[in-house]
Amino acid sequence: MIIAIDGPAGAGKSTVAKILAKRLGFLYIDTGAMYRALTLKALENNVPINDEPGIIQLALGIKIDLLNNPDGSLTVMLDGEDVSLAIRKARITQFVSDVAKIKEVRQVLVKMQREFKEKGDCVLDGRDIGTVVFPHAQKKFFIDASAEVRIQRRFKELKGLSQKVAENEVAKDLANRDKIDSTRQTSPLRQAPDAIYIDTTNLSIEQVVEKMFKLLNG
Ligand code: C5P
Repeated sequence: MIIAIDGPAGAGKSTVAKILAKRLGFLYIDTGAMYRALTLKALENNVPINDEPGIIQLALGIKIDLLNNPDGSLTVMLDGEDVSLAIRKARITQFVSDVAKIKEVRQVLVKMQREFKEKGDCVLDGRDIGTVVFPHAQKKFFIDASAEVRIQRRFKELKGLSQKVAENEVAKDLANRDKIDSTRQTSPLRQAPDAIYIDTTNLSIEQVVEKMFKLLNG
């Protein structure tokens, strides 16, 4: 079974996806982490973000592993190295949407994402899971929240990662990424017609998970 979770940045997708996957005994696939890993690889190899052929070349040779740990956390491996923390840095966040808008990059990573299905039941979160990666997913959710709440959630998350950033910087980053992600030509962020929309603005994580769980069993 495939559960697809899409939505804008900071809506809380990955938090609920992780909990849901653990509760169901499914694999959790953070597709954003894959675009982040490629962005890290580009920066580490001094490939400029606007060098599309260079980035595509890197994508073709990339090896990404997503390891589900028993405590529900995720370890992201890039070419055999643990990059779980490195991919959350502000520099990666700043450039990731420009990398993710390249058509050929998406083709390579979407292919990898589809292959996870062979490993078992999966919960995937991203921007195009229900529309492009798994259009026939058995259950699709579109998780949203007001801009103010999304900024607060991201701000808290970054604080938890000990990253010093101003609130207005977080607001700028979310607005910038949402704009690029929803206006790009290839698989823009969209709600699939058969996805269930959940506005999480006034809901706790537990309430969102509970709601999704009921919808899955209903
Ligand atoms: O989920 P996260 O915010 O970590 O994703 C980082 C970026 O990766 C997004 O802003 C988007 O540009 C890109 N992304 C994407 N398609 C996905 C998942 C993420 O384009 N399925």
